[in-house]
Amino acid sequence: MTVKVLVVEDEEPLAIMLRYNLEAEGFEVDVAENGDEAELKVSEYTPDLIVLDWMLPGVSGIELCRRFRISKSLRSVPIIMLTAKGEEADRVRGLSTGADDYVVKPFSVPEFIARIRAVLRRTSPERIADVLCVRDVTLNRETHQVSRNGREVRLGPTEYRLLEFFMQSPGRVFSREQLLNGVWGRDVYVDERTVDVHVGRLRKALTRGSEPSHIRTVRGAGYAFGG
Ligand code: CA
Repeated sequence: MTVKVLVVEDEEPLAIMLRYNLEAEGFEVDVAENGDEAELKVSEYTPDLIVLDWMLPGVSGIELCRRFRISKSLRSVPIIMLTAKGEEADRVRGLSTGADDYVVKPFSVPEFIARIRAVLRRTSPERIADVLCVRDVTLNRETHQVSRNGREVRLGPTEYRLLEFFMQSPGRVFSREQLLNGVWGRDVYVDERTVDVHVGRLRKALTRGSEPSHIRTVRGAGYAFGG
């Protein structure tokens, strides 16, 4: 699964340079030129990481960072602030607003990419891991192979994405709506019962004989995997 990065930057040459270099590293990149555009985009999807310029026309990067931090869907999304200000007081202010890291312009591209990877490793190691393991189930993102106890498990594309989504957050209970948004995407209209159908298929594919199903049905809440 690709890591989606939202770059909020009004300087076009810098935005183009960031997009080019992040895409070359395998990230999916979206660019917003100002706060309004950024807020519109995050209402449509949740990025995995936000690169936020401090000095933006209109709503400032700091104010956006503060808003993102109190938003239910964005509060755990890592934010890297970009700024020309290198003052210690600003750095502290940026970090206290909730940014995860801070990069001072001008910066070198390798350093910037390294900072992004470091933040992702810290905040969501499962987002950049090639292999996910939960209990006796292993999912390889490079080969798209899934196995349980060393036995190969064959899954349809939707069941694969569903399992990957579950395995990123073992033990966490997801509502049907969260699973729909995370696996099918917000733009797709799918009935919530479709989720039940695919969870059922995934359970069946993962389980042999008397093996326990790792997928728990949480009454009135949704489903959880492992944990
Ligand atoms: Ca700027």
